[in-house]
Amino acid sequence: SVPQRSNAEILQLRKQWLNPTLSVSYKEPLKIVRGEGVWLYDQDGQAYMDMVNNVCHVGHCHPRVVEAGQAQMARLNTNTRYLHDNIVEYALRLTATLPKPLSVVFLTNSGTEANDLALRLARAHTKARGVIVVDHAYHGHSPSMIELSPYKFNSKGGEGQAAHVGVVAMPDTYRGMFRRSLEAGRQYGRLLRSAMADLRARDVATAAFYCESLLGCGGQHVLPEGYLPEAYAAVHAAGGVCLADEVQVGFGRAGQYFWAFEGQGVVPDIVTMGKPIGNGHPIGAVVTTPEIAASFVTGMEYFNTFGGNPVSCAIALAVLDVIEEEQLQENARRVGAFLLDGLRDLQRRHARIGDVRGQGLFIGAEFVQDLDTRTPDRTRAKAVVEAMKAHHVLLSTEGPDDNVLKIKPPIVFSQANAEHFLDTLDQVLTAT
Ligand code: PMP
Repeated sequence: SVPQRSNAEILQLRKQWLNPTLSVSYKEPLKIVRGEGVWLYDQDGQAYMDMVNNVCHVGHCHPRVVEAGQAQMARLNTNTRYLHDNIVEYALRLTATLPKPLSVVFLTNSGTEANDLALRLARAHTKARGVIVVDHAYHGHSPSMIELSPYKFNSKGGEGQAAHVGVVAMPDTYRGMFRRSLEAGRQYGRLLRSAMADLRARDVATAAFYCESLLGCGGQHVLPEGYLPEAYAAVHAAGGVCLADEVQVGFGRAGQYFWAFEGQGVVPDIVTMGKPIGNGHPIGAVVTTPEIAASFVTGMEYFNTFGGNPVSCAIALAVLDVIEEEQLQENARRVGAFLLDGLRDLQRRHARIGDVRGQGLFIGAEFVQDLDTRTPDRTRAKAVVEAMKAHHVLLSTEGPDDNVLKIKPPIVFSQANAEHFLDTLDQVLTAT
């Protein structure tokens, strides 16, 4: 068995033997040894309520998912060059959740791989190279996805914007260039036109527009009404395809919608998935239209050693079963709405929460130094996260100014969990 080491020893060994760019959460990092539902446990058996993990979507170590993976692992794991029932069953079940044209499935092992493959599909279909992305977005860690991630290429160590990439302002209706109004969504959507014109001026045609259906790294923003319809129309008019990155927010987290893009009333040309799809097991997916998939048939096979293997598919099927049987999409809607109300009540009672926003169990609360100037208060946001940890509730911060409290628990998060969180946050806000 694996030797059990102290936190200090593990930190030292990580430093000596592992990727030197790894980071840890919290000033005093946690050693987590077990998970169950919304709870994580440290080596002393102390429980922490996990409000950060949108990967262990139906709850940590959900027995149905664990059993499905164990049983298939004990029977067979191979690649897609043998026929197997699991992969076709999964394709049928997954596409049944999507609008009709989205009917061709590619399976990968991560969100990055899904977004990477989607770029190849978009380029094959449009014969163009350019991509428009939203400022502060993150789409993955491969070289091609770093180039599409302002969150990375504009940060320390980044190499700046590549010539084939256009960036549009984030549709932030709290502190962005267009504030809350009926028109803000369309105003932000119109920015796509000038971004594509800038690319054209560099002789680059637009292959794709990549956009998360709710903005994660950008700071938990819900897209303003009318944004994607306007943006998609502009991209389609220019011959490009539109991609919804649902890696963080898909699979019922949005509550009212199984796919968060549905909230905008659009149908993307490509949808990418990851994180929650396997409840922690590494799987990703691209779903697209038959037309785009046909453009990818060039004579070269897309083969992915692990993608679509029987074990991954068994796990992904179990995740869909659990979401359905435990009515977790409805849970996300109900508990998410309760959390938003509770946070808005705290906003009224505690100074310097500038904005509370979200959809389903994807919520953000933005700390500011002053409600009028809206100057971001990163220090307070960080202090609140540390103080909540001391009360055994795990959260994180997010956004360009790192001042947004990021809330995205497993979607089994209950009303009682939400009440516990709101009570604890109330105490912490009174003290910090
Ligand atoms: N897209 C989005 C929106 C993400 O949040 C992430 C991961 N944070 C990715 C893509 C990349 O996924 P992965 O880490 O599984 O490669």
